[in-house]
Order: sequence, then C-alpha cells, then structure tokens
Amino acid sequence: MSGQARVVARFGAELILRTESGELLRAVSRRNLVKHGPAHLRAAVCGDYVRFEPGDGDKAVAVALQPRRNVLVRPDHRGRPHAGAANIDQVLIVIAPLPTPDWGIIDRYLTAVAALPATPLLIVNKSDLLEASDARLIADTEALYGGLGYPVLRTSAKNGEGIETLRERLRGHTSLLVGQSGVGKSSLTRALDPGLEVRVGELSALSGEGRHTTTVAHLYALSSGGDLIDSPGVRDFAPYQPTADDLAAGFPEIAECAHDCRFHDCRHRAEPGCAVKAAAEAGRIPPSRLRSFLELEGNSA
Ligand code: GDP
Ligand code: ZN
Repeated sequence: MSGQARVVARFGAELILRTESGELLRAVSRRNLVKHGPAHLRAAVCGDYVRFEPGDGDKAVAVALQPRRNVLVRPDHRGRPHAGAANIDQVLIVIAPLPTPDWGIIDRYLTAVAALPATPLLIVNKSDLLEASDARLIADTEALYGGLGYPVLRTSAKNGEGIETLRERLRGHTSLLVGQSGVGKSSLTRALDPGLEVRVGELSALSGEGRHTTTVAHLYALSSGGDLIDSPGVRDFAPYQPTADDLAAGFPEIAECAHDCRFHDCRHRAEPGCAVKAAAEAGRIPPSRLRSFLELEGNSA
C-alpha cells in the first residue's frame, strides 16, 4: 500500500499515519526526510503530511514530507528547539472564570499564535459558572479582546452552551487546544466528541507504547469534522523569545500606533514623542496590552 497520509502521532522513530481513507498505519520514517535546514525540522511530526510506501513486514515507510504551512517549535527539557506539531490552522485559547484569567498569559498565547501564523479563537469556558463567580472580570476580558477584533466564544462543557458553534468552527480545519491547567480543555474535548476517548485508546494500543501516549502530541479526527491536535507539551505554550516581527503580529494595535513615534526604533518606555505611550495615557491602547508588550519585548530575541 502506498499514498499520502497525515501523521497522527510520533513515538521515537515510529509514526502512526492516517491514510486518505481514514485507516491508521504504523510506519517508520526514512532518515532526514528533509535534506536541508535545522535538525529539529527534518523529521515528520504530528500534523505533517507524508508520502508512504510499503516496507518490510507490517510497517509502511514514510519517504517524503510535504511542505508545511507552519510548525510549532518549543524548547525541549534541555532548552533545545523541538518541533511539536505542524500544519495548524487555528489555535483555541481556552480561559474560564476559574482559574482566573491572566491577561498577560492570553497576550503571550496571542503573540505565539500570530507568529505561527494561525487564527486564534478565544474560548470562555465554564459559562455555567458565570453567575457564581467573577462575571465582571469575564465581561471585561470579552470586551478587551472582542474590542481588539479577536473572535470570542462562550462555552460550557457542563451544560453544552456553545458546543455546536464550536464544532462548526472546527470543521474543515486543524485546531490546537491551549490554555492553563484546569480551564476545561479535556472536558471540552469530551463534550465535542464523546467517542474520542475510545479512539485515543485504539491509538495507544496500536503504538504499543501506552505509557508514552500521555506525553506525545496526537491528532484526532472529530466525528463532526476537522482535526484536533492535543499536545501536552504545548498546552501551556508561550513564546520564549519573540522577534520584533512576532511582537508586531501579536500586538497590531501597538505596531500601528508606533509608526507615529518620533524615533523609528522607539521602545515605548521613556522616549520623547512616543505615540504609543501617549495613546495608552489617552485610553486608546489598553494599559494591560502595553504592559504585556513591554514584558515580552524585554525578553525578545
Ligand atoms: P484541563 O486541565 O484544561 O484539561 O481541565 P479539565 O477538563 O480537566 O477540567 C478541570 C475541572 O473543571 C474539572 O473538574 C471539570 O469537571 C471542570 N469543568 C470543565 N469544564 C467545565 C464547565 O464548562 N463547567 C463547569 N462547571 N466545570 C467545568
Ligand atoms: Zn514609542
């Protein structure tokens, strides 16, 4: 058997592929599928599209890697760059009334998503708890990010609010789920597709590496359409060293305003004639956004 397939998981040297007819196959990869470029980008990762051919025994061989639309790179436990997932269209940034949303963290996610690039969708989960907890903070969060033009959707994994709308937003796309621990990412996945856990079990059995399956990125086909990537290592990802371009993409309202600063290399701290500072003082740039920007700029590449 040969053809095109998508990588649904990688366990060391072994890949699990999903063929165009939806069948799962074990495969090994040819070494260095990509001949040039940095080492961490040469091997196939979750979300990649590959061409495969029959191999010895029951395993196929991945022989070529299709060009990637994007690839998410994170430092590994030794601080070296590691490719976690590829070809991501959309990133679902999940927040909830509990744990309390942190705007600095949301801004880090938005910057990382803009740098990929991918489309962000801010999900306010646990909407059923809004009466009981800090409804004011959630309303302010929705107003802040909705006002900046980011799409915002309320959901409840408990009572089902927004779940059908979310299924529609996922159909036809590859989406990655991120957010602080406890906001309800696992619960949302179950609410979206109650049959998914069974298929997760099948995947672990196929890999024969059950103990690794909770730490490896997986790509799942949702029964309502679309692929969902769950990557434990990137669930709480944030850019570690954004470039100036990443910052401009993550903070378009600040980048726009910075054109009017007196100095073209203004860092918007104490420079005279800083249009960004003036806009923040006049209330045209939200103070929390400028704070996030300056913090990220402080450890930029
Ligand atoms: P994760 O760490 O982001 O995967 O979060 P979990 O899915 O494990 O959820 C954390 C806790 O929040 C669990 O106790 C869930 O039952 C609860 N939870 C998740 N979604 C909702 C929701 O929409 N409403 C309510 N009331 N609780 C939720
Ligand atoms: Zn400035």
